[in-house]
This record gives sequence, C-alpha cells and structure tokens, in this order.
Amino acid sequence: MVYSGSCHCGKVAYDVEGEITQVIDCNCSHCSRKGYLLWFVPRESVRFKSGESELATYTFNSHRIRHHFCPVCGVAPFGFGEHPPGTPVAAVNVRCLENVDLGALEVMHVDGRSR
Ligand SMILES: [Zn+2]
Repeated sequence: MVYSGSCHCGKVAYDVEGEITQVIDCNCSHCSRKGYLLWFVPRESVRFKSGESELATYTFNSHRIRHHFCPVCGVAPFGFGEHPPGTPVAAVNVRCLENVDLGALEVMHVDGRSR
C-alpha cells in the first residue's frame, strides 16, 4: 500500500509505502503537544514529491531524532532518526496521510513521559 501525505499548505508532499499494522501514541512532552500518531517505517519508505529541502527541523534531548515540520503551515508530518544506530528509520505521523481510518488503527500507548 502506498499512502500519500502532505503538510496542510501543500509545500511538503510525499508517499509512504508499507502496511500500517500499529501506531504509537506517546504521552511525552513533545509527542503530546504535537498530537502525533506515529508509524515507524524504514527511512527509504518515505519518498518526497516536494518540499524536502525546505523542511524545518526541531531537535531536543539527545538530538538524535530530527523532527521535521513545514516552515509555512507548521504541520509536522514525520521525524527521521536511526534505530538501531546506523539504520535510518522514519516515524511517520499518520494524521498527515490520506485515506487512513484513524479510528480503526491498533494504537500502542507509550509512556514516554515517565522515561
Ligand atoms: Zn505546509
């Protein structure tokens, strides 16, 4: 399955290939504020159609994850990191993908706040 995703204004657009088997809802200070529902895929599963070079980036804590967002509309479609180290991974915010039934997803609640 190939999902189409974008920010709100359309500057950033991309496809993500894979099956959404489970998403993560984390309650840490960052994820809860952004409202992420995250789907982890290999980094190469995210293919840009536009806007890659214009993404703004936020990092915090260990600064190992690059949380990207659109500089125009502020929508945060994904973050890129490595897991395990050396293996590029993407955490895709499924709220920014088209044709995803959010209510039907299996959600794993992660207690990032306590870590
Ligand atoms: Zn935008």
